[in-house]
Formats: sequence, structure tokens, C-alpha cells
Amino acid sequence: MEIQLSGLVKSYQSEGRTVRALDGIDLHIPANQIFTLLGPSGCGKTTLLRCIVGLETPDEGEIRIGDQIVWSHSKRISVPPEKRGLGMVFQTYAIWPHMSVFDNVAYPLQVRGTDRATTRNKVRQALQFVQLENLENRPATRLSGGQQQRVALARALVAEPKVILFDEPLSNLDAKLREETRKILRRFLIELGITAVYVTHDRVEALALSDSIAVLNGGRIIERGAPQKIYFNADHRFVADFIGRANLIAATVLQQDPGFTTVQCALGTLRCQKRDFAVGAEVTLCIRPEFLLLSQQADAQETNSPAVAQDHTDNIIEGRIESLDFVGEVYEAEVRVADQLLLARVDPTVQVSQGDTVRFLLAPEHGLLVMD
Ligand code: ATP
Repeated sequence: MEIQLSGLVKSYQSEGRTVRALDGIDLHIPANQIFTLLGPSGCGKTTLLRCIVGLETPDEGEIRIGDQIVWSHSKRISVPPEKRGLGMVFQTYAIWPHMSVFDNVAYPLQVRGTDRATTRNKVRQALQFVQLENLENRPATRLSGGQQQRVALARALVAEPKVILFDEPLSNLDAKLREETRKILRRFLIELGITAVYVTHDRVEALALSDSIAVLNGGRIIERGAPQKIYFNADHRFVADFIGRANLIAATVLQQDPGFTTVQCALGTLRCQKRDFAVGAEVTLCIRPEFLLLSQQADAQETNSPAVAQDHTDNIIEGRIESLDFVGEVYEAEVRVADQLLLARVDPTVQVSQGDTVRFLLAPEHGLLVMD
């Protein structure tokens, strides 16, 4: 079921000043997608989720879930949380320690007065779905963190919600369990074909889990799109910087050609991905470290290397290695180019040392130009 948010505003009074937690949010969340709200601490993610679920009352705007307006300032509509047909999974799991797995999951049905046979069937189905059917009699506290989070998911599912909302559900798990649970969760949600709205400040989680991501800052949506679009083709500097590691370099647009945009920056004159900026515009060049990958030893003096000969549009970036750190699958290098320090990657098979002069080839499509 789709969700439409229009002109949502929410302010709080805090220590004598007004905090605008939501500053005019317009957002369409398509049906049956995993849609993530991503942003730094305090950007308004949780407030937005709580407004959708009905635990928080906005000051202005409208919220529609499917065909139903559940909240509208101008139309004076306010549907209570329990009538919005939503399920919610919290960071803290919020499962009851004194109850068994079965009783935890059965709780929403018992509150509704569902008969015992139906409750039993639905709870068993939900537990089967999250692969906990063998643990139904176990006290909920005698489960791992990942299993407890699956109990919380089963409890949200058993009520057959139209939409499930997740508020940082994996942040209490350790890194390995978090990754495993994230994969299981994505599989469950795809199988269910349900609309899921997911809040996180973890960019890797957002990229791996989502069909779409909206990046928030200061109570506003800065940009939204598929994970690949947000990572490789962001429009804004804030988004490019937040979603992954990036070299961000001030640049001026020099020239527009059919296939690329040429800029002047501290690295020299570079051909970049085509972006529709005016000549003379001040922009930011974003280069991800993985696109500065040294995978063969380049002799700085030899200008006619095969890679250059193959493609004359590639940029050549030459610099001196200032530091080299082994981080597992690659070395991470800091490379000095004029007064700019670039973060780059070096394949472990390449023999280079600190102080060496190296050369990278940067294809224009990997030089992303973004606005502030
Ligand atoms: P985090 O990732 O840290 O949970 P968030 O993006 O979810 O952050 P919110 O919790 O939505 O951010 O908060 C948005 C802003 O509103 C913050 O500046 C926060 O301090 C403020 N805020 C949220 N709830 C209240 C409240 N009940 N009273 C006062 N200010 C609040």
C-alpha cells in the first residue's frame, strides 16, 4: 500500500528554542517497496516515522495511507494509531521477557479478541515465516539478539498490517549478526510483498536493504532514488558525502562537450561525467576511492602506457603516496596531488611504497559533479 506525505511540518520546543524536526516533507512511498529514510542523527527520521504511525502529531500537512487520509491539518482528520493498519518494529525489539515466544507473537491478536484457534494458526504461520517455529515455547529472553528481532517481526506480521515501519531494528546487534539479519529481513520483506518504511543512519544497511532511499538532513528530504543512483549519481554534495567515502574537491566548470563536462580543480583540468551546469559554475567534484584504484604499477615517466592508448578521454592523475594502510582486501593510500590529499585504493598485488609517485586513470563517468 502506498503512502503519500504532503507538506509535513513538526516543531518541538526545546530549552527555550524551536527545533523544526520536519521542515515541509513531501514524499511518495510506493507500494510494496522497501523504502529507507537515511540521514545523520537529529535529521528527523524517527519523527517522520512516528508521524506516519500516529505516535506523533504533525503541526501541518497531510498523511495518506492507500486511499485513506489518516492525518490532515486542514481537513481536521486524525485517525488513531491502532486504526491505521500499520505494524512497527523498534530498535529495542520491545518483546516481553516474562512471556514465551508464542505469547509474544500472539499478543496483538489477543488484544483484538481473536479466538484461540485462529490465534494459534496465525501465530504458527508467522513463526514459520521467520523460521522460529521450533522455539515457540521458549522464554523470549533465552534467544539471541537476531532471534529476538525475528520475534518482533513475527509479532508485527501476525496482525497482517498494510505497511511495516522499522526504526533502526538492527542497531543493537553485533556487526556479523546485523549483516545476517539484514539479509534475512530483505528476503522476508520481498517474499511478503509488503510496503516497508525503514529508518537507519547506517549507509551500508540502507544500500543493501532498500529498493529506494530518501536522504534527509535538517528536517528536509535532500534527495531520493534507488541505492545505485544515490551512491553513483547523487546530485548533491551532502548526499554524495553521506552515502559513502568520497574525495570532494572544489571545481569550476570550464567547458561543456557532448559526452562530458570539463572542470578546473586542484588536480588540474579534468573531464567529468556530463552534468548540466553553466560554464563558470562553482561545483564539487566527487571521486570515490574505488575509482582511484591502482591495479598495475604505473611508471610515472612513461606517458604511453597501454591503458592511456586505449582510451584518450581518461584523465591521468599523478601523485605521491603519503601513506599506505593495509585494510584487508586492499591497501588504502593517501596520495598527494598538488595541495590535495586523495584517498585511493591499491591492489595488494601491486608493489608500491610510501613516497612512490603513482598514476591513476580516471574515466570521465567516475568524476561526479555535484552541487552544494
Ligand atoms: P537519531 O538518528 O539520533 O534517532 P533522528 O534523525 O531520528 O535522529 P529525530 O529523533 O526525529 O531525529 O529528531 C529530530 C530533531 O527533533 C532533533 O533535533 C531532536 O533533538 C528533536 N526532537 C525530537 N523529539 C523531540 C522532543 N520530544 N522534544 C524536543 N525535541 C525533539
